[in-house]
Amino acid sequence: MKAKITNTCICCGTCAGICPVGAISMSTSGDRYEVDPKKCIACGSCINVCPVEAIVENHSDEKENQ
Ligand code: SF4
Ligand code: SF4
Repeated sequence: MKAKITNTCICCGTCAGICPVGAISMSTSGDRYEVDPKKCIACGSCINVCPVEAIVENHSDEKENQ
């Protein structure tokens, strides 16, 4: 299941540092980080390191195989 970052993100940057494929970066709005679903390999690492549990599983990835 791919990861998704919610608006509880406090921009600590921890998740971006540990993502093995570099899928996480600051959003264009600059108020939180975001996951690039094209890069995310659903390893789950970021979900475990977020100090405020802002990262959740993205359940809207049914279109993944298109
Ligand atoms: S689940 Fe893994 S690959 Fe996807 S954004 Fe989080 S750390 Fe990166
Ligand atoms: S680890 Fe959590 S709080 Fe820190 S940048 Fe990532 S989503 Fe935001």
